[in-house]
Amino acid sequence: MIYEPVIGLEVHVQLKTKSKVFCGCSTEFGQEPNSQVCPVCLGFPGSLPVLNKVALDYSIKVGIALNCRVQEFTKFDRKHYYYPDLPKNFQISQYDLPISKNGFLDIEIGSKIKRISIRRAHLEEDAGKLIHKDGVSLVDYNRTGQPLLEIVTEPDINSPEEAYEYLTALKSIIQYLEVSDCDMEKGTLRCDANISIRRKAAKELGTKAELKNMNSFKAVRDALQFEIDRQIELLNNGETVIQETRFWDEKSGKTFSMRSKEEAKDYRYFPEPDLPPFVITQDKIEEIRKTIPELPKERMQRFIEDYGLMEYDAKVLVLNKSKRDADYAEQLFRLYSKKDKKNVANWLIGSVTASANSRNKNIADLNIPAKNLLELIDFEETGQISNLTAKSVLEEMIDSGKSASSIIKEKNLSQVSDEASLEKDIEEAIKENPKSVQAFKTGKENALMFLVGQVMKKTKGKANPKVVQEMLKRRLNNE
Ligand SMILES: [Zn+2]
Repeated sequence: MIYEPVIGLEVHVQLKTKSKVFCGCSTEFGQEPNSQVCPVCLGFPGSLPVLNKVALDYSIKVGIALNCRVQEFTKFDRKHYYYPDLPKNFQISQYDLPISKNGFLDIEIGSKIKRISIRRAHLEEDAGKLIHKDGVSLVDYNRTGQPLLEIVTEPDINSPEEAYEYLTALKSIIQYLEVSDCDMEKGTLRCDANISIRRKAAKELGTKAELKNMNSFKAVRDALQFEIDRQIELLNNGETVIQETRFWDEKSGKTFSMRSKEEAKDYRYFPEPDLPPFVITQDKIEEIRKTIPELPKERMQRFIEDYGLMEYDAKVLVLNKSKRDADYAEQLFRLYSKKDKKNVANWLIGSVTASANSRNKNIADLNIPAKNLLELIDFEETGQISNLTAKSVLEEMIDSGKSASSIIKEKNLSQVSDEASLEKDIEEAIKENPKSVQAFKTGKENALMFLVGQVMKKTKGKANPKVVQEMLKRRLNNE
């Protein structure tokens, strides 16, 4: 029997405002526990919430960028549940009148565009943090009351890969809007997933499980794949999937049952009596629309048109990297004097990304001044150093902060293109490898590359391989 997974995602994005959503407490990360609290966010009786204007503006901005209809009339509701890190015993959220709804985000799967519908995006307050340590549980309310935007998709996603693409595209857009850092490690972007399985083309949805505790986009993808396999196995064995919340355990690579899933009715939503409903005028929406900067898709298109990049390269540099990385790439393209920027793109996607990955960093955080990287690229392009040497110089530039020219000078790394100084090594390589010489003469081109390799070894990688190849060919063809 062929099954199809049906996935919906709920993403919580912490908005980057200076103060909390309903009080004036600071939102700065990493401060002394419980140092950023007041009667409002601690839920003292008689304290009154006041909506943060910037949080509202940011929410509208995201709504517009995600092609949503921003609602003219919106209100807040109380969502009741008891958690030790939510001192009011309810959360101010939005129930039936979210700030925006009915949007979409297009993602690319293979070479096809797939539209993921966005059901709603609503503003709410965050809960605090519990720390379980040395047999005691501690609570930190600094995060309590920070603004969260919850973005909910329709169940339009049909594979873990699509979920991954959607999250990547969403994060990129929000980073470009500069309304959140979207850093999963710091918890400024969190994702829960609803997943069910149904027979392909069936109209009815299967019973869904909600997945929690995924700490990276990769974890979301892995947890979904595990859950698809688990649910299919249950159905194949004639068992049923139960509606529940499941916890992803990164170590074991499995999901575990946490609790049965609450229904909306369990939360006893009712309108927040301490906040009036809000009217968002068309003028206000237009005013915010004007502040939306160039978004990733547009930038990618511009990279193709202005800098002559291939679509694939532009996608990798814009959609798959952070905004700061794309800013860095753009800085290089502007400074690079040749019209065709392909080689710079190759460097960024190849060696520079590899160096960044091995240090668990973004390209922009390697702190290589753009002009220094361009100098290195120029050394390689003009054949003054080999490609291999260039890679090791890059590593040293990152570690020492020195420029390419000073490293090349210090270590005497300049490539040898001068034929006279290569003569001796070439003669030796020919003498020492008669079999390869014979093989080349009987038409085996690979044998020539082996001989080039031998000369490179003798010169400790400093010979210009093109020159060596030319010299060897000439020499052997004349024998
Ligand atoms: Zn407060």
